[in-house]
Amino acid sequence: MFADVSFPISRYLTFTYQIPEDLLEEVAVGVRVKAPLGKRMAHGVVVATHKTVSYKGKIRSIASCVDDQPIMDAGLWKLIQWLSAYYMTPLGQAAKVALPSNLSTRYTPPTRWMVETISRETVNVAGMKNAPAQVKVLEYLQTTDKAIPVSELGELASSPLTVCRVLAEKGFMRLFQEVSFPGVTGFTFQPVHKEIKFSKSQTEILNTLDEGLSSKEFHPYLLHGVTGSGKTEIYVDIARRALEQNKTVILLLPEISLTPQIAGRFRSVFGDTVALWHSKLTPAARAWTWKQICAGKFNVVIGARSAIFTPLKNLGVIVVDEEQEKSYKQSSPAPRYHARDVALMRGKIHKAIVVLASATPSLESYYNQIQEKFTYLHLTKRFGGAKYPIVHVVDMVKEQEESGKIGQAFSGLLLEKIEDRLNKKEQIILLQNRRGYAPVLRCNDCGELFECPHCRIPLTYHRVGNSLRCHFCDHHKNHLPEQCDHCQSPNLKLSGMGTQKVEEVIQETFPNAKIARLDTDTARSGISIARLLERFANGEVDILLGTQMIAKGLDFENATLVGIINGDTGLYLPDFRSGERVFQLIYQASGRAGRRQKQGEVVLQTWNSENPVIKYATKLDLKTYYNVALSERQELNYPPFSWIIRVVISGKDKVKTENEAKRLRQNLSVRIKGLEILGPASCYREWSRGKHRTQIVMKSAKSTDPNGRELHQTIRKMVGEHMKNVRHGISIVIDVDPTSLL
Ligand code: ADP
Ligand code: ZN
Ligand code: ZN
Repeated sequence: MFADVSFPISRYLTFTYQIPEDLLEEVAVGVRVKAPLGKRMAHGVVVATHKTVSYKGKIRSIASCVDDQPIMDAGLWKLIQWLSAYYMTPLGQAAKVALPSNLSTRYTPPTRWMVETISRETVNVAGMKNAPAQVKVLEYLQTTDKAIPVSELGELASSPLTVCRVLAEKGFMRLFQEVSFPGVTGFTFQPVHKEIKFSKSQTEILNTLDEGLSSKEFHPYLLHGVTGSGKTEIYVDIARRALEQNKTVILLLPEISLTPQIAGRFRSVFGDTVALWHSKLTPAARAWTWKQICAGKFNVVIGARSAIFTPLKNLGVIVVDEEQEKSYKQSSPAPRYHARDVALMRGKIHKAIVVLASATPSLESYYNQIQEKFTYLHLTKRFGGAKYPIVHVVDMVKEQEESGKIGQAFSGLLLEKIEDRLNKKEQIILLQNRRGYAPVLRCNDCGELFECPHCRIPLTYHRVGNSLRCHFCDHHKNHLPEQCDHCQSPNLKLSGMGTQKVEEVIQETFPNAKIARLDTDTARSGISIARLLERFANGEVDILLGTQMIAKGLDFENATLVGIINGDTGLYLPDFRSGERVFQLIYQASGRAGRRQKQGEVVLQTWNSENPVIKYATKLDLKTYYNVALSERQELNYPPFSWIIRVVISGKDKVKTENEAKRLRQNLSVRIKGLEILGPASCYREWSRGKHRTQIVMKSAKSTDPNGRELHQTIRKMVGEHMKNVRHGISIVIDVDPTSLL
């Protein structure tokens, strides 16, 4: 018998080895083995076994097995091969993204002592007079049926563990150790227990999904439902049905720390069979979780995009929540994969159902549903009849003309509504999709902007630390310059408005309001985001101000006003998706207002009230906007009507980079019907981290190239021929299905 073994080295193929007699039983697909590679021994994974071999040279033998169980199955390996081919990434690099780097680490998850009462009937404490601590602990425990961590009994006894040991020996309570699973760093998920009785439309959707699940065939769905319509409850129930059939479940979330209640909900229903998988796990916790999944200890995995590669066996359901989210696309390093598309492929390989869910689907998925490639499931109402918000549009151009004041952050209407809510003790969410205090520092005499010398984009002024910062490369000046670099004029002026400036204005206007700001500057970690959102949910904060991070997440019952300070942010970025993004953001942010019985209101400020994106977003008219956007995409031959691949050529020297791009363009002298080649042209973000960026964008119409095969072959040929002799100092990045062209 022979085995093909893959090693985690960057440019590699698989190597064939003989399986020695004594290892025949153990060597199987997915098992890690030790084998000679060149002059050393290396760990690799068996990806195939066979009886014959065509290779004529000397074949070496596998030395030993590393694990006693496979670390993945053949299906997952097939997925990795597809990942490598489709995203044009060497197999080793693709495998590196999918598999944990080191599975040999030792890790034991921490445990803690728990106690629970055996009976809630009052124990006769007469014989315990001399042990007041025991009495206190016992009485406390009798107030609840739940198990309590011993560490929480510190106020009742000086050494609670000793007290509990004695009580357990006397048979008054049960003392046990509980494993605390790796969570999102330092953040505990509150269990959310609920009585659910599904509505008619929810039941219909569940029945459709159940049919798909029972068919044991791949089946993709688009679950389109406004925020609060019960999508999460549907995920829970379909997961329950899958587990009943001994199948497993993956739930992808764009950002776990922004939506802790979803993980909490799953943990409360499925308990310890739920694993969390995200980038902040330590390598050891990651390896441990991986092996537990292989061993079948976890049947549900909830996580960010890389959770799509977790080695669940018998996969039945994959759910992709908020499937339009940008964070599902890995921008760097290669493979630059989109977890939604990988989910569809994994569903195909494992014959699982794939549920793409969103309140604002991507145009691609929406179009696939129209084309009947996905089954469309639509929840049109919020659960329990919660009302839609009323949206007020403020035309800021008129507002300025009428007030005579220029550069105001807040319209009269928004200020009025904020004051009203503060008086009523209701909460306010303000969206300003830009970090910092003032975006730019400008010379009033010559107009020169202070830019990052590496990225050539304007530096942003940050009030905290009084610094200028680049939001790309983190270049910063720790004090404000005194004069213009260009004309030496000292007449410098801060202009524009970021979250910090808005915070300052609002605090001046409403000195008694408690304001919290959430953006990537204040929320460096998942835990601080969670704390901040918790404070808002508890009513400790009146106004939550932030970037797009606040557009989703917790269910804030008392937040009845959403103010969108500049609805136009991002509208005019030169990218075919900018309209879609702005629409989705406004729509989602509006959904934050008035989740329950209270009527919510949204105030949207815009300088472009006639723009179709703004117009339809303020009417919350998704269908019309999507139709308008689709016909625009069709006209310009952009996805979902075409396939695109973007090639970015970058280097320190602008001229050399541009020449390389031209040379590459010449190598692409193929003539294929329906193939359009744009560029080379400088990227919108022309400089990044000190390198100039030039791009070539290729579009291939789906009408003539239905599977994208023509386009892929063209690029692959170019990669083969051109990449071999790329000039020194130049790097070339190939992005298949890019989510942005900036
Ligand atoms: P979405 O995921 O679409 O935003 P959720 O599933 O979170 O919506 O539902 C919104 C709220 O309504 C949640 O508190 C949820 O528990 C509740 N809910 C939804 N459907 C039901 C139901 N059938 N019975 C009881 N509560 C429900
Ligand atoms: Zn920079
Ligand atoms: Zn100047």
